[in-house]
Amino acid sequence: MVKRIVVASNNQHKIEEIKQILQGFEILKASDIVEQFEAEENGRSFCENALIKARALKQFSEFATLADDSGLEVFALDNKPGIYSARYALTGRDEDNVKKLLEELKGVEDRAARFVCCMVIILPDGEILQEEGYVYGSITTQPYGKNGFGYDPVFMPEGYNKTFAQMSSDEKNSISHRRRALEKIYKKLKDFNF
Ligand code: IMP
Repeated sequence: MVKRIVVASNNQHKIEEIKQILQGFEILKASDIVEQFEAEENGRSFCENALIKARALKQFSEFATLADDSGLEVFALDNKPGIYSARYALTGRDEDNVKKLLEELKGVEDRAARFVCCMVIILPDGEILQEEGYVYGSITTQPYGKNGFGYDPVFMPEGYNKTFAQMSSDEKNSISHRRRALEKIYKKLKDFNF
């Protein structure tokens, strides 16, 4: 029997990335099972927020339900913007978030940072698995590149001489925090029958 997993997202890029990694599972997007679902992301960590999303969607089906939450942690800023990454600047626009980050880091030498992703899956019997994935790097002093989204133009992963926004989506996805969290979940999932 095919094992079905519903993802708490309708973002086609995210769904495709998940399909690539979770081979052998049938992946559905949220809108395949419910018109709309609401989740108030008021958790204190990436994993709490991912769990809130997964629980909100799980009510609508018997299928395993997967949700993620991610963001950027800059160590010199006490891990900000963290869970507030999407709304760091008041407008919540990517360019404004990046601008605010560069301003906060003006004159700061230690620009080390990491992207974090927490993936949570609730299995049909209610069991919860969760895993975090990280990609370490540093914040540049100005934006470079046009690809991607969010903080990609100012994030240079360790071992590379370009930002995420200067990479193709395949190259970025091959080392992303999302992929790393998802691969850990995939390994665990193989031990479960549902
Ligand atoms: P979400 O939880 O995937 O919706 O991500 C929340 C926010 O974190 C986004 O709005 C971005 O600001 C930031 N973020 C998460 N992942 C990435 C990434 O891969 N590149 C750039 N920014 C990201």
